[in-house]
Amino acid sequence: MSTGGPLLELAGVVRTFRNGDNEIHALAGISLAVAEGEYVAIIGQSGSGKSTLMNILGCLDRPTEGRYAVRGVDVAEFDADELAELRRDTFGFVFQRYNLLSGASAAENVEIPAVYAGRSRRERVARAHDLLHRLGLGDRADHRPGQLSGGQQQRVSIARALMNDPAVILADEPTGALDTASGRDVLDLLDELHREGRTILLITHDATVAARAERIIHLSDGRMVADEPGRIRTAVTADRVGHRRPASRLGLVAGFSEAVKMAFRSLRTNLFRTALTLLGVVIGVAAVVAMLAIGGGSKQDVMTRIQKMGTNLLLVRPGAPGIRASGDYASLLPADAEAIARLDNVAAVSPERQGGNTIRFGNVDYRTMIVGIWPGYAKARDWEVAEGTFIIDDDVKGYAPVVILGRTVARNLFPDQDPVGSYVLIKSVPFEVIGVLAGKGATPFGSDADDVALVPLSTALNRIFGRTYVNGITVQVTDAALMDQTQQAIETLLRDRHGTEDFQIRNTSSILETAIAAQNTLTILLGSVALISLLVGGIGVMNIMLVSVTERTREIGIRMATGARMQNILLQFNTEAVVVCGIGGMMGVALGFAVAAVAAMFGIPVVYGAIPSLLAFACAFFTGLVFGFLPARKAARLDPVVALASE
Ligand code: ADP
Ligand code: MG
Repeated sequence: MSTGGPLLELAGVVRTFRNGDNEIHALAGISLAVAEGEYVAIIGQSGSGKSTLMNILGCLDRPTEGRYAVRGVDVAEFDADELAELRRDTFGFVFQRYNLLSGASAAENVEIPAVYAGRSRRERVARAHDLLHRLGLGDRADHRPGQLSGGQQQRVSIARALMNDPAVILADEPTGALDTASGRDVLDLLDELHREGRTILLITHDATVAARAERIIHLSDGRMVADEPGRIRTAVTADRVGHRRPASRLGLVAGFSEAVKMAFRSLRTNLFRTALTLLGVVIGVAAVVAMLAIGGGSKQDVMTRIQKMGTNLLLVRPGAPGIRASGDYASLLPADAEAIARLDNVAAVSPERQGGNTIRFGNVDYRTMIVGIWPGYAKARDWEVAEGTFIIDDDVKGYAPVVILGRTVARNLFPDQDPVGSYVLIKSVPFEVIGVLAGKGATPFGSDADDVALVPLSTALNRIFGRTYVNGITVQVTDAALMDQTQQAIETLLRDRHGTEDFQIRNTSSILETAIAAQNTLTILLGSVALISLLVGGIGVMNIMLVSVTERTREIGIRMATGARMQNILLQFNTEAVVVCGIGGMMGVALGFAVAAVAAMFGIPVVYGAIPSLLAFACAFFTGLVFGFLPARKAARLDPVVALASE
């Protein structure tokens, strides 16, 4: 690999920072070559440009002017990801303030560079263990940085620097925060690494520390003022280092599972915030699931009620087509019903006239709907008496003053007595109660179907309503498949009889369609309101993620210094958002079902659907992807130097 040329070569490197209108020349023209295996100390006062130089040497930063080549290749030709790879495979960083991730154990910190190098978990764990052991921290592998002393932390960070077996160790004031004894340990360690053949660049402001190197470079105000030999060259015990196999470029799956792990860790470290973020998503998803369950339930409910009414019915109403049949049109007569009854495919016919009236029993008045009917009503409406008998043809023919009570009417007039056989008064006419209808519950339109009383049509027209015409004819067909033909036959018949089209016919299947359409609209409406709340939850996630990126800028810098590429950072932060939304999605589905179950306990019809739940979960998942992307991109685009420098 060695080409004989210098390992690292700077030629006329200038690094300028703009600070408002000021230009700060942190480096003002540095030319320097470092050969493989050298141990170089860079010494200078605070502010002389040492860290700036090290950032450029370590490819965390680029020169403003001049050329920097690693193994003869100008780094200006590299894009951000190639620089990240170069950092990962060639350089190991040791910082003054250790820069360990506080949420991760010592071993996990050491593993990070290998994660980004795409090495297998087993290989990583074994090597991290070996390195920690070698640095005397074998028994501290599971400790958090906060549980370690400064010297121990610095040794962890050296282990991390060695993880990918880099050719160059860059140490920026590695002993600056340590007591003398631990500082000496760290320097001994650097000596040892140098003896193995590694190139060491040690930055310090301390002359006694610098004296341990073979070569000492003095910096002052961004310029090299001296380049002198230090102590005698040490014998290199190993002839080559840094020849581990190149890292795999792929490892995306490993990267993903690692990102999920890291996501869980970082979400755990800020539990309260995570819970609040989750809440938004949970509520959003739960709203979607519950709303769709309730919407679906009410749709099914309406459908079954209409189906209970019968899908084989034709309803003839008076009044010309296009006119709302609310007025009282004198166009339909019982004789029309008789004619319809003689048509083919007609199973039952009942002309009806209805109106609100008061029924009196004893001194109790009860106002209900009185419906004059034919016996065919029972068959057409599939409605029989629970006790007593139904109205028969003779009742109609003989204008019999008999009445059948709906269950609600019976309960109100006869709270504690069997009504059959009793007499009630309607319009001062005594009617004998001959039966009580079976309970039917609510109508498709929500009113009480049992709040009704049936009397023979002839009696009703004569004695109650004083009219000769009816306000509807219910026709039940035998074969529902021939419904359209039967409807046409009735139309022709009535047009012939009346000489004009002063009626309209509807069938229950078209009513069903209309009702389903109305219910679907309602479900979509509820669903969209719920989706909006999910959207709001997503914005919450984005907001928190942006805060999190800002807070964790330093962590991002550390990751970048240890070899993370932009896509690694992007993946990590987006994964965090997806993990939050995924967990929120699952909890939301569960909560949505719970809400629907509670609604069901209160008698609200509910349908649990797998597809709406999956859809809501998928929505949450994609919310994470979409709303996590912006913060993740913000993180990935951070400049490693700026990120590392942040507090
Ligand atoms: P040293 O590490 O020797 O103490 P640095 O390399 O950190 O010095 O800084 C050299 C000079 O560059 C200082 O004057 C410092 O204020 C300036 N400097 C370093 N980084 C930045 C930056 N990101 N923006 C502006 N000025 C900077
Ligand atoms: Mg510095």
